[in-house]
Amino acid sequence: MDKVYGAYLCTGCGIGDVLDVEGLKSAASETGMEMQEHGCLCGAEGRALIEKDIQEKGVNTVVVCACSPRVMQKEFDFGEGTITVRGNLREQVAWAAGDKPEDGSVDEFLQELGADYVRMAVTRAQKTAQPEPYKLESISKKILVMGGGLAGLTAAKEAAAAGYEVTVVEKEKELGGKALGWRKMFPTSYPYDQLEEPSIAQLVKDVQGNSKITVKTATEVARIAGAPGQFNVTFKKTGEKTEWDAPARVTVDQQDLIAKGEMEDPNKGMKKYTELNPDGELFGAVVLATGWTPAKVEGCEHLGYGTLKCVVTNAEFEKLAKNGQVPARVAFVQSPGGKDKDADFPYCNAVTSMVALKQANYVVEDHPEDGQAYILYQHMRTPGNAELYYKAMQAKDGVFLTKGAVTKVEAKGSGATVVVENTLLGEDLNIDVDMVVLAAGMVPGTAEQPVINLAYRQGPALIDLDLYDGYADSNFVCFPYETRRTGVYACGGVRKAETMEETIDDATGAALKAIQCIESVNRGVAVHPRSGDMTFPDFFFQRCTQCKRCTEECPFGALDDDEKGTPLPNPTRCRRCGTCMGACPERIVGFADYNIDMIGSMVKAIEVPDDDEEKLRIAVFVCENDAYPALDMSGMHRNKMNKLVRFIPVRCLGSVNMVWIKDAMSAGMDGVLLLGCKYGDDYQCHFAKGSEIANRRMENIGETLGTLGLEPERCAVRQVAISDYDKIPQIIDEFVEEIVGMGPNPFKGF
Ligand code: SF4
Ligand code: SF4
Repeated sequence: MDKVYGAYLCTGCGIGDVLDVEGLKSAASETGMEMQEHGCLCGAEGRALIEKDIQEKGVNTVVVCACSPRVMQKEFDFGEGTITVRGNLREQVAWAAGDKPEDGSVDEFLQELGADYVRMAVTRAQKTAQPEPYKLESISKKILVMGGGLAGLTAAKEAAAAGYEVTVVEKEKELGGKALGWRKMFPTSYPYDQLEEPSIAQLVKDVQGNSKITVKTATEVARIAGAPGQFNVTFKKTGEKTEWDAPARVTVDQQDLIAKGEMEDPNKGMKKYTELNPDGELFGAVVLATGWTPAKVEGCEHLGYGTLKCVVTNAEFEKLAKNGQVPARVAFVQSPGGKDKDADFPYCNAVTSMVALKQANYVVEDHPEDGQAYILYQHMRTPGNAELYYKAMQAKDGVFLTKGAVTKVEAKGSGATVVVENTLLGEDLNIDVDMVVLAAGMVPGTAEQPVINLAYRQGPALIDLDLYDGYADSNFVCFPYETRRTGVYACGGVRKAETMEETIDDATGAALKAIQCIESVNRGVAVHPRSGDMTFPDFFFQRCTQCKRCTEECPFGALDDDEKGTPLPNPTRCRRCGTCMGACPERIVGFADYNIDMIGSMVKAIEVPDDDEEKLRIAVFVCENDAYPALDMSGMHRNKMNKLVRFIPVRCLGSVNMVWIKDAMSAGMDGVLLLGCKYGDDYQCHFAKGSEIANRRMENIGETLGTLGLEPERCAVRQVAISDYDKIPQIIDEFVEEIVGMGPNPFKGF
């Protein structure tokens, strides 16, 4: 498109009170654009000024220097054919640093700050292009649901109710999963004190009678190739071996070792991921509801499991209860009480606490005269309304609850004696019972098996890091259901331990996410977290050196590669994070409205005084997801921001290409900071690995600076959360002080 520019400056909201408006306008004209001012650009009159230029002068690229791009988005949306670029003079200049000197003059540091933001906005507008959505020639709107238990059946029913065709794949011969074996389920309505009949049988009937749902029992997924909108799925009989089988998970670290030849590939011989199966069935999205298995309780010899017949797990006890085989005196042991007396059994959680309460109820229900249920716990977790059930059970005749460490279970007749220390009663107890029930936790199905069998370059497993004990991963803060494989949405026990009621909610959420994904693919736009983004990465392959960095670092497995190592993009798997752009040493990856040249030019648009030691300049690349809104909020709180720093928003720290940092330092900047989300086990990065990757790259750049005789500390990363808005000015000040201590960049002016 031939661009016709219109640049506009708002002097309202305090901007015109602290900044020299004419000075800002000349900063724009130096950069190539004449700027008009208005006292309230977001108002009807201000918008009319812009719309008139669009209609009469054919303006199609609008620069608005006013409030943050995070606000007034509707007001400054001029329709599909018009690009709008925003410069943040309100939250990050006038409000953040806008003290008016007493003599009424304009603070020169503040003016330079504002002028730099105007230059950067104008430059951005010059370098951006109108995005064209990526559309598949044909898409499948069918949803594949893996797992025919409560979660899978609920997801299938909900998706079908919304009008989508669904196929449910269940490895067992019948639908229903573990819930078929439950005698009762937890209370789901006020006053939350009565167990309820399981609803699973009705759900199975509903699914079987639904014409939009196809059911495949005794069937497993052999392989899922392709991408959202066109997943190519091959099925097999349960247990059957196929050439697509991937026997093992391969973590990212293991991938590196395999690539170096230091480890044998456990999936060697598996068919190459690029080969599509012509007989495969097409699906638009996948709901992963493959559930959980009871955790093993072996290794607790002192509790008698495996040696005493009367010691069973909670899962085994539920079967007995369903068959009416509940004895009169039962101890429910919630914690192994061994060396680490406070610890629970592995994978224990609120559900296992609730299960103990439910099963204690069976005891007194089946033995109204002499039933005795002892719940011995270290932690009793009953969140939300479950607390009411806990209270009801506490008050029930025949149910005894105490905190305590079970140190021994010994045979006594056909039953056992349970020895408990450190109880709430203040004395140790020896309890004679007919049966002992151990609280086995709930292990997600993804912990051991790459059940999903993806035909992706990054491997067949859903997860590639050993975080969260194998739970299907997602951004735990913001995006439940999302996995790191776009178009695959996890729910139920594979995602977290849940009650039946929670599972129903969870499955409904995952079904909606699958639908959202299909419809986003249909429109050619991104799914979370950049929902609606029309851009996608474009590769200039002529200059690709097949270094494989992009294919290895993409957090979402969006890039496969060919035999030579040239990336094979799958745009509908892509979340548009830009990590591939940050990774590429050849700088050949970019987006229509976000690319190496654009950000590099914005950095160069910042004026760096080379003759004033007071005026150091520090470029801060700011993650748009948490850090940028935190900066805005800091401005809204009128926290004072350092005027030597220049904030440049980026999609994710993973998208920061090291060339920008080199450019900044060679342009005479005195320091560069990356401000982004937390990484590591408790990561908050919206793109899972972006901030972690950026940190690794920064270590390398530090080494490079060292070889040039510059202090590596001039380039650093700081982690912030969105709630850190009151701390950010101090974080920035501390970094600036470090740079001031080092003095100006010695290469300034060269
Ligand atoms: S790194 Fe991000 S932008 Fe690049 S292909 Fe992967 S998901 Fe897409
Ligand atoms: S990082 Fe760049 S050069 Fe390396 S494989 Fe990817 S596109 Fe090619």
